[in-house]
Amino acid sequence: MSKRISVLSVPIDCMTMKETISRIVNLTKEPGLHIVATANAEMVMLAIQNPVLHGILNAASLVVPDGAGILWAAERIGEKVPERVTGVDITKELFGIASIENLPIYCLGAAPGVAERAVKNLESQFGSVPLAGIHDGFFDESEELRIIEEIKTSKAKLVFVALGVPKQEQWIAEKLSSLDGVVAIGIGGTFDVLAGNIPRAPKWMQENRLEWLYRLYLEPQRIGRMLAIPKFIWTVIKNK
Ligand code: UDP
Repeated sequence: MSKRISVLSVPIDCMTMKETISRIVNLTKEPGLHIVATANAEMVMLAIQNPVLHGILNAASLVVPDGAGILWAAERIGEKVPERVTGVDITKELFGIASIENLPIYCLGAAPGVAERAVKNLESQFGSVPLAGIHDGFFDESEELRIIEEIKTSKAKLVFVALGVPKQEQWIAEKLSSLDGVVAIGIGGTFDVLAGNIPRAPKWMQENRLEWLYRLYLEPQRIGRMLAIPKFIWTVIKNK
């Protein structure tokens, strides 16, 4: 069992990428729905103000440290998180082993055509995967019922949900709770990255915890949302 620490009252599992993947594979063999969340500073700040999101994260099977801010905050309280475990990397790794482990994948979210492009790129890298279904993230209520039914009947074992935080976590907890032996992972903008719509930051920026800065350079309109980062830093310092 991994160590679970608390960053501003939000649980974070201290696991390497490798441990995370093996845990996710094992969870698909355990009863119930298993929620995996990928936490960054923005998610923590939202959770502090959103009791529903906070409750979902507390009950999640795994909350992995996606953002560099989480590693920094952990260090401040004398804890060691081994490495960043990002939604993009989890998705890639799981696509890499899905056919070997026989884990059908359902992809939900992003603009029409984006998840399809992401899957195509992943398959050209890792070979074909058992695909249970794909749907974009913009649907009405009747379409939503069809999607939920499709996820259930397709026998998907891994459900990637890219609807943004906190919508994706709430959607998973609310709509997929009756699933059994299924892992559902909230992956934010991962399909956009894997489809090639948003380039990943250069390696040196990732290694120096500057991926957020690159994201801001690409999408300056994110500035409002990104104010969560200095607020997070300030709250962590104040809480010491
Ligand atoms: N999205 C969606 N349906 C919605 C709202 C958002 O499919 O109703 C998608 C959006 O197209 C994008 C992703 O959710 O692909 C959210 O990406 P973002 O980078 O904002 O994720 P976060 O920063 O929350 O991880």
